Amino acid sequence: MNLIQIEIPQPTHPKESIMKKIGLAMFALGMLVFLSGATGAFENIKLFYCLGSLGLAALGGVLFILPSRNDGLPGIKNNGVMFRAISNRGALAWMTSVFLTGFYILLYWYPEYLKGLITSTDVISFGMTGKAATQWFLYGTIYTLAILVMGMKMIIKYRHSRYQIVRTISVMFFQLVFAYLIPHILEAFQQPEYYFTYFWPLKTSVLFPNDLQWLKSQPGALPQFMVFWGVIMSIIGVPILTYFFGKRWYCSYVCGCGGLAETLGDPYRQNSDKSLKSWKVERWMVHSVLVFITVTTGLLWANSIYGGELLGSASMYFSRWYGFLIGAAFSGVIGVGFYPIMGARVWCRFGCPQAAILGIFQKYFSRFRITTNGSQCISCGNCSTYCEMGIDVRAYAQRGENIVRASCVGCGVCSSVCPRGVLNLENGPVRGRVST
Ligand code: SF4
Ligand code: SF4
Repeated sequence: MNLIQIEIPQPTHPKESIMKKIGLAMFALGMLVFLSGATGAFENIKLFYCLGSLGLAALGGVLFILPSRNDGLPGIKNNGVMFRAISNRGALAWMTSVFLTGFYILLYWYPEYLKGLITSTDVISFGMTGKAATQWFLYGTIYTLAILVMGMKMIIKYRHSRYQIVRTISVMFFQLVFAYLIPHILEAFQQPEYYFTYFWPLKTSVLFPNDLQWLKSQPGALPQFMVFWGVIMSIIGVPILTYFFGKRWYCSYVCGCGGLAETLGDPYRQNSDKSLKSWKVERWMVHSVLVFITVTTGLLWANSIYGGELLGSASMYFSRWYGFLIGAAFSGVIGVGFYPIMGARVWCRFGCPQAAILGIFQKYFSRFRITTNGSQCISCGNCSTYCEMGIDVRAYAQRGENIVRASCVGCGVCSSVCPRGVLNLENGPVRGRVST
């Protein structure tokens, strides 16, 4: 009897270069030193400790990223992504998820346990704002560093796509300047801390009556401009810009949540659920959050105009629960903590009320669409795999249909990873953009 031997190929695990390994070691060492500062061990050398440990970690990150520049032929490399435990929901991914979730829980509800870490960033905070650091200063610093370092990785990975490079530079710029430097510089000049790139309903205080009244009562012209800017942008600016460019102008170019998702979260984009069921859940959830914040804002305004015990307690009840459930638990703890398991846009997809509003405009009153050249599609599925919003792009491409979906953030990755040039992100006449 002849025996036939069948060889089953094993997945090849990509080898890391020496420079990458050194980078990883430096990153780990920097983070270890930074975290050990929580014990107060570096009390006497705070400046050296803080800048040194964070600098070492950032430099390690850069060294880890740089070798990817020389990885052969042009094109976006996702080699091995399905075989790595960190990017394919393996043990490392779960550990990272638990770590991130735990960090957010401490940050929001038990900052006293992070006191050592928070005070270790005092030295930067005093330099920028003249005040001691809070947990939000610590968070903002780590958040911004993560976007900057992982943004460099994104730029190198997608270096053959001008669209990806431009939008990555854009989110890095808006995070560094508008979400980190400007608010802290305003504080240093005794002005209200203000984020010019966040609007209602993502930043609820922009239209909450008490916050508006407080801002209006501040001396000087700048607080008055802040009131004007927030209201105008929330009500008029956002719809107009979305009409012309789709929601991508915000979700993929400006927003800090999107910025973190597109940089730190890029290695996890393939983990988004593409099923019809998740699409259904997504629509229910994101629009429920939008209704929740609209009702809350309405109640607060009704209470500020008419007063009364019933309106007072109802508005208080709604705003407290919104702050706890959506503002903290969903956007922070789940939104970032679940990156390695559910993809990086969990918050944008299922919970962000700003994304819900932008999505409604994008679907019904926008010039944006993704066109598909169906005859060129080879059904490889790259586009669907790497769509972080769980859109089954391939299904549209196979039918040659335009993609006009409320959830599409216009990241353009589906188009960048398509080997056949099937997909194009375009702005054009509203009429006829939905294929029939
Ligand atoms: S459909 Fe394409 S552009 Fe839209 S979110 Fe998905 S990957 Fe990004
Ligand atoms: S990546 Fe391109 S070729 Fe592959 S399924 Fe999507 S549209 Fe078709």
